[in-house]
Formats: sequence, structure tokens, C-alpha cells
Amino acid sequence: MENVRLEEMTWEDCKAALEETDLVIVPIGAVEQHGPHLPLGTDAMNIKYSALKAAERCNVVIAPAINVGVSQNHMDFPGTITLRPETLIDLIIDYCESLSAHGFRRFILLNGHGGNNAAVELALIKLRHRLPGHIFGHAYGGRLKKGADYCLEDEIRYHADEGETSRMLMTAPHLVRMERAVKETPRSGSGLYVFQASELSNQPAFFGLPRTKSCTKSGVFGNALIATPEKGKTIHAAIVDALCEVIEKLKRIDIEVFDE
Ligand SMILES: [Zn+2]
Repeated sequence: MENVRLEEMTWEDCKAALEETDLVIVPIGAVEQHGPHLPLGTDAMNIKYSALKAAERCNVVIAPAINVGVSQNHMDFPGTITLRPETLIDLIIDYCESLSAHGFRRFILLNGHGGNNAAVELALIKLRHRLPGHIFGHAYGGRLKKGADYCLEDEIRYHADEGETSRMLMTAPHLVRMERAVKETPRSGSGLYVFQASELSNQPAFFGLPRTKSCTKSGVFGNALIATPEKGKTIHAAIVDALCEVIEKLKRIDIEVFDE
């Protein structure tokens, strides 16, 4: 495939692409505050950057990104846009049903924003019922990047932090205002929320996402000051490698036997 981006193809290009692959990546982002130093579209930009590299390496199609997600918790900060979870679920279903009508059968819902996880998984459950003979996978950037955890120094890994800022220094360095970057240790007044990487995954209960304004003044959770493009390169590479592994695995599956 000369160009893997669906929106830049003609219908004839897309027809030809479908002869090479029935796998499509649907990147899903967010438009929400990312501290005083990062653009609102950080999640969408970062995930699209990794998605494109993986799509090119694996020769699969990448759909136009769903740029806005579920960001209710950040609404106290100007510029943040949120969808209702139901809207995101419906959007994902409409995308996938359209693409299915043309012959795509393997879908990777590539999500770059933790606040979308529940909606993406609900969409996936609904799609499995509506479209038998297809495979839907939810790949979350926050999990795909695990292979790069060793390069991060700060124990707080949450939002607009060392990792996200580093990735943006690779994705769109001209949009990063490092002179405005800060370090802020988030607080949870109620004590219900933790932000330490070592504790996040083994919480006994989930209380939704905290209202950002109640945890940080700047919108940064962690230390954006120690971000570097080198760390960003390592994180992107880890995401691309992990994503390509999923894609190659999905390519080999015989859809006829998938639901047997
Ligand atoms: Zn983000």
C-alpha cells in the first residue's frame, strides 16, 4: 500500500487496499486540558503518531481518528470537549459498521485516552453481537507502552506528566511549551484516588476518574520537567512494537474458526 491513511485514499485506492488487507485501525483520542504546556489534542496526536507507524510497518489501513473522547473530569479547564459515553459508543459502532460494509473484518480500536476505556469496551461488546464474522480488539496506549516503563523516572505516571510530555516532544515538538512545564504532585482530598504507577493497577475498587480541578491546579499530575524527546522515542517505539505484535497475531486468525 502506498498510503495507509483511509482519508487520503480515493475509493479505488481503498478497493485495492481491501485486496491486501481486511484489517483497519481506528485511533481514538481526546481533546482535554494537558497542563499549561501541552496542547488540548495531545492524546489524539500521540496515538495517531504511533498508529501511523504501526500501520505502515504492518501494511494495514488506518481510519480517520475519532479525535474527541470522554473527558468530563477535565471540563473545569477551558477548551476541553467531552462526548457523552453513549455518543462515543455510537460513533465507534457507526465507524465500524460503515467499514464492515466495504469488507473490513478485523478492527483494532486503538485508544489513546484512559477515560475512553469503558466506552470502547462497551462498543466492542455491542459490535460483537451486531457483526458476527468480525474480530474487534481494544488496544489501549497506556498498556501498550509498558515495555518503555524502565525509561521513566517519576513514580507518578498519570496525566500531562513525564511520559506524555516526552511523547509529545517526538510527536509535535513545536506545540510543546517546555518553558511553561511544571511539576505538581496531585492530591486526593477524599483519599480514594492514587496516582503512583506501582499502586494504580492493584486498587481494590474503582470510583471513576477524579475531578481534575480537585487534584491539581495546573492540570499536571506528575513531573513534566524531566520529559525528553529520547524518552518519547522509547515510549513510541514500545507502543508501535506492541501494536504490531497484536496486528500480526490478528492477521493470522482464521475468522471462520474465531467464533466456533
Ligand atoms: Zn493525555
